[in-house]
Amino acid sequence: MEEEVNSDGQRRYRTAVSYDEHMSSHFHSWKEDFTEKPERFTETIKRCKKYGLVERCKFVPSRLATEEDMRVYHTEELIDILEKSQFLPLEEMRKLSRLYDYLYFHKDIYTNARLALGCTIDLVEQVVTGKVLNGFAIVRPPGHHAMSNEFNGYCYLNNVATAAKLAVKKHGLKRILILDWDVHHGQGIQYCFYDNPNVLYISIHKYLDGKEWPYLRESDYDHTGEGTGVGFNVNIPLNVIGCGNCDYMAVFHQIILPIAYEFDPELVIVSAGYDAALGCPEGEMEVTPVCFAHFVSLLSSLAGGKLCLVLEGGYCIDTLAEGVALSLKTLLGDPCPLLEPLGSPHPRTRESILNVIKTLRPHWKCLQFQGQLSDSVVSEFKGVLDWPPQ
Ligand SMILES: [Zn+2]
Repeated sequence: MEEEVNSDGQRRYRTAVSYDEHMSSHFHSWKEDFTEKPERFTETIKRCKKYGLVERCKFVPSRLATEEDMRVYHTEELIDILEKSQFLPLEEMRKLSRLYDYLYFHKDIYTNARLALGCTIDLVEQVVTGKVLNGFAIVRPPGHHAMSNEFNGYCYLNNVATAAKLAVKKHGLKRILILDWDVHHGQGIQYCFYDNPNVLYISIHKYLDGKEWPYLRESDYDHTGEGTGVGFNVNIPLNVIGCGNCDYMAVFHQIILPIAYEFDPELVIVSAGYDAALGCPEGEMEVTPVCFAHFVSLLSSLAGGKLCLVLEGGYCIDTLAEGVALSLKTLLGDPCPLLEPLGSPHPRTRESILNVIKTLRPHWKCLQFQGQLSDSVVSEFKGVLDWPPQ
């Protein structure tokens, strides 16, 4: 395990990792080779071990989230349905699954969702209290689509939203940045903090002018928060498939990093999905695994290095495993592998960046340097304001 000396002269581990082998036990019982499958977890852990990364980390033992943990964000009713789901016969489980969007139940879901939440909470706690510098909760099932009273998109309990709420509640943090680079919009996190200026939620996601799941009008760039939370919800919609390193790097440098620096977070949590990675059938984007290492590196200078990654989606097993392993390697302080030269972002990415800047500039000084953007930026933009999409 790698240790470093902190400013108080005490020794501490640099990076923590948390997971539980049991997280591979659930699967879709009535659809063979379903995208959200156990190999997502087993192959990812295998790759991290192959590169010798796990043994370099402090291992945070897994635990089941308690009823109290689950109730930080979720209703009693949702927790009750989840608990009872483990005892249902298959046909009843199928019926229950049909009530939700993109979701299946399995007898182990209740246990694994609680393990994922317990691991996330404890990993974030290690970072917040300075026991480690940073860490990665490599968990399954994911969490960012789960809402207070609704399961959604392979997500049952919202790991990241709960951990962030607890960091505010227990440690009085006033500025937490949640960056969601999963290719889907984490609406469960957005809803949780929509009126809250203490938690800045930035999401970059496939939107396709509203034609991409979860088909929400509120995933677009003009949904910026409400009440005192206005300006603290940043949606960066990608309206074409095939976005790659250059598109994501442009978004990082033009929007994410300037706003993040101005916000000056005390803690950064990443909803780290790898479904924007090359080869993912759900994402249809082309970000290389190496580029995720660079994202980690770019975020490492914020919040004194207090950076927590929490696994969300990722359905191309190879680029998921490689992306997670290279992200963990970067958390451990290894230099990032070289990135291929960047091309130009797609015109639709440029349009999204300009629309985000135009919409959020009243709230962030760093976005006021570009001079006046002409109205043509908005008029270039076809059909997005018509809802529902054609
Ligand atoms: Zn996703």
